[in-house]
Amino acid sequence: MDFLLSDEQQAMRDMAKNFAEKKIAPTMEEDEKEHRFRKEIVKEMANLGFFGCIAPEKYGGNETGYLAASIMAEEIARISPSWGLPFNLQMNSIQSVLLNFGTEEQRERYIPKLINADLLGCFAITEANSGSDVASMKSAAEEKEDCFILNGSKMWISGIPVADLGIVYAYTDRSLKHRGISAFLVDMHSPGVTQKAIETKLGLHCAPTGEIYFDNVKIPKENLVGQKGDGFKICMFMLDNTRLSCAARAVGVARACKEHSVRYANEREQFGQPIANFQMIQEQIAEMFVEEEAARLLVYRAAWNRDRGQRNTIEISCAKFFAAEVAVRAANTAVKIFGSYGFSSEYPVERFYRDAKSYQIVEGTSNVQKMIIARSVLGLK
Ligand SMILES: Cc1cc2nc3c(=O)[nH]c(=O)nc-3n(C[C@H](O)[C@H](O)[C@H](O)COP(=O)(O)OP(=O)(O)OC[C@H]3O[C@@H](n4cnc5c(N)ncnc54)[C@H](O)[C@@H]3O)c2cc1C
Repeated sequence: MDFLLSDEQQAMRDMAKNFAEKKIAPTMEEDEKEHRFRKEIVKEMANLGFFGCIAPEKYGGNETGYLAASIMAEEIARISPSWGLPFNLQMNSIQSVLLNFGTEEQRERYIPKLINADLLGCFAITEANSGSDVASMKSAAEEKEDCFILNGSKMWISGIPVADLGIVYAYTDRSLKHRGISAFLVDMHSPGVTQKAIETKLGLHCAPTGEIYFDNVKIPKENLVGQKGDGFKICMFMLDNTRLSCAARAVGVARACKEHSVRYANEREQFGQPIANFQMIQEQIAEMFVEEEAARLLVYRAAWNRDRGQRNTIEISCAKFFAAEVAVRAANTAVKIFGSYGFSSEYPVERFYRDAKSYQIVEGTSNVQKMIIARSVLGLK
């Protein structure tokens, strides 16, 4: 389905596919078993320009856009959803925020190092008691003469405990409700910052996730992003970008599940013939195929419009909601088609089944996406 891709976008897709198959796949099963994050993979992705898609050349970017990034993210997640995370951590979070709300000094200082992965990034919104309801966060930064002092904690943060730089959301004035949240660039090696891995995850075993504790962390004034109180607005803008990549990766998982299922259905014989001959298997494959195609079209449209500078929250929520659900359905169907081998870690579909669930949760759950969509359709505030 290449009808709207340029030669450059197709070349980037081939490059990402080749990278995933040659550099990620060979050690993937062992890395998964060991829950191993490999910084060199992020570095190699960086060297190929994966994280430069949205930044101008003067910051080391290639400005190939969100569509190119989405196409590449799909290719990486098709092999390993874990290794799709760096697209958000290195590019769609901090970089996109700085390009839109940062000072020139912040851009020059941080964007090149995120693009070449000298700094590993993270974004920290969620807390132990604050998930979908972002404005219920407790973390707070108190303004002093020459700095802010940050206290609080964050939970379920991708890239922890290996992150060097985070965009952290915290209250600077609780009385203003969500208009009192601010966004800060935080050096994750500052005194008072503690990063701790969460070891009990269902999936995404090569992508670290963790908790952060901030204990009187001194943040220089120049690390405030935008104005005080801009944090909620910045966060919602950022989530549009991280959601888009999440949707693209979900398409990669749906595609992987279809590809594995097609291969297996043609090989596996029961009742003296390949199970591919049975109409119920054909129905399952047909549904997987159509849903994957539909999800990809939603992602491509949302990315294409994003590249034209549109603030297309609803399109992105549609793509994220649908692609996440499609990925989970495809993984569920794949496990069924594989029978007991679908229940075995010898085959990749059980891993996709576990990893796919993350797409229904991260960057706003499926319910949250439906709330955003329904409010818009119903014309509610
Ligand atoms: C692997 C992983 C990586 C993550 N990475 C990051 C990260 O990098 N940075 C970060 O900040 N966070 C991250 N998160 C956190 C993630 O964004 C949150 O888990 C998510 O927003 C949901 O919050 P919650 O888990 O607190 O669920 P809750 O908000 O407690 O929701 C619980 C359930 O209630 C539903 N619900 C809540 N409110 C409503 C409502 N109004 N109407 C209908 N249903 C509702 C939800 O859909 C869900 O089903 C990550 C999570 C995971 C699992």
